[in-house]
Amino acid sequence: MELTNTLTMKREPVIPHEPGHIRMYTCGPTVYHYAHIGNLRSYIMEDVLEKYLRYEGNQVDRVMNITDVGHLSSDADTGEDKMVAGAKREHKSVMEIAQFYTDAFFADCEKLNIRRPDTVVPATSRIPDFIRMVQGLLDKGYAYLAGGNVYFDTSKLREYYVFGNQTGEDLAVGVRDTVDADENKRNKTDFVLWFTKSKFEDQELKWESPWGLGYPGWHIECSAISLRELGEYLDIHCGGVDNAFPHHTNEIAQSEAYIGHPWCKYWFHVQHLNDARGKMSKSKGGILTVSALEEQGFDPLAYRMFCLQSHYRKPLTFSFESLQNAQNAYNRLVARVAALAKEGDPDREAAQGFQEKFRGALGSDLNTSLGLTVLYDMLKSDLSDATKRYLVGDFDQVLSLSLLEAAEKAGQPSEPPVDGELKAHIEELIARRTEARKNKDWAAADAIRDELSALHVAVKDTPQGVEWHLEG
Ligand code: AMP
Ligand code: ZN
Repeated sequence: MELTNTLTMKREPVIPHEPGHIRMYTCGPTVYHYAHIGNLRSYIMEDVLEKYLRYEGNQVDRVMNITDVGHLSSDADTGEDKMVAGAKREHKSVMEIAQFYTDAFFADCEKLNIRRPDTVVPATSRIPDFIRMVQGLLDKGYAYLAGGNVYFDTSKLREYYVFGNQTGEDLAVGVRDTVDADENKRNKTDFVLWFTKSKFEDQELKWESPWGLGYPGWHIECSAISLRELGEYLDIHCGGVDNAFPHHTNEIAQSEAYIGHPWCKYWFHVQHLNDARGKMSKSKGGILTVSALEEQGFDPLAYRMFCLQSHYRKPLTFSFESLQNAQNAYNRLVARVAALAKEGDPDREAAQGFQEKFRGALGSDLNTSLGLTVLYDMLKSDLSDATKRYLVGDFDQVLSLSLLEAAEKAGQPSEPPVDGELKAHIEELIARRTEARKNKDWAAADAIRDELSALHVAVKDTPQGVEWHLEG
């Protein structure tokens, strides 16, 4: 497969350190609130990547951290520590908040068919590893003590800004002059590895360390967890694009300084989900969650479909109108699968052509929308129904839209089939009624409804559109 590597900004073939075995790390959620559908866009696309790598026959080991401690990288951070603020807001302890939102995160993932990574590690469970790594960086001369904290010294690196796509604006966010400077830092880009003193004094969780009672900086957790679980040669590191700087930049700085050689070969960054106000973000508030979509009558898998319809490297703008379109497309797709006859054996040889096309799409920088097109083309083709069902199941190992299961649930229509002409007439009446309702012409809409009742047609308005059936 080929992926665009943010490190080089080039499309490159994915060649793991050990052939056929891919080690993959994903920055997990900061568990002070529900994940919003923007966060989940990143996790959906990372899930498709993992599943596609498996589909190609690779063994994949995937590790995810859970950020359940601190979210600070220096005293120049703005605002409050997010975990502490979340606990205060809900009158709970930090660990209670972390457990609650970790469970909520995985419940959302399940609804979206996002596979739980093989290994999930809460940061608080690995404090001794972080301390060992910070000590190692001090011993190697890459870190220094100042004002009670341990800082990483970015001036010791040959190159600090490693990502080809780092723009001036990105960089400004991490090292702005406008936020109050952290006086202890030797260089603007230095960051805290371990805090014992901070303006954020109300930390609930603190641990003994060689430098005093304290807590880790934000970045160290991902480096230490990845190195312990996946070794010194990581193949793919994933995250939303906002994490490229400073988080991933600092992960690379400290990991490579510690191990003394290049660390991760491919960086996979998912562009943001935006709404009318710009990037969806937990700290901005007004976020949309999976439950909010469900409350409005949407199937979480319609949101997955919405994400698959566009490329991961393009920003995606959310609106309920476009989600409704995705829901309609999903319903039509399921209905099409439900209409396939179940009898017969698939012709695996005949299926190969479409499997190749599917691999051509997904293997080409994870082009999921092209993958969906291959699925549609396949359903339109003259393959047998059994072969089509086989291919739906095959592609769905990667797309994870539960197409066969949803089609099973949709079942066979319980009413006797409507003859073609009558069906066309009913659908025309329904379209006219929808138009009348749109124009707020209630009298016309009611008259059409009466006409439909006379034909024994029951009509129901749902968020997915108008549903109808013939009454017995
Ligand atoms: P957080 O819980 O803030 O640590 O973020 C979890 C993941 O979601 C990270 O990979 C972020 O980069 C990603 N992320 C945050 N906001 C968005 C967004 N609006 N669109 C896509 N991904 C996002
Ligand atoms: Zn991380």
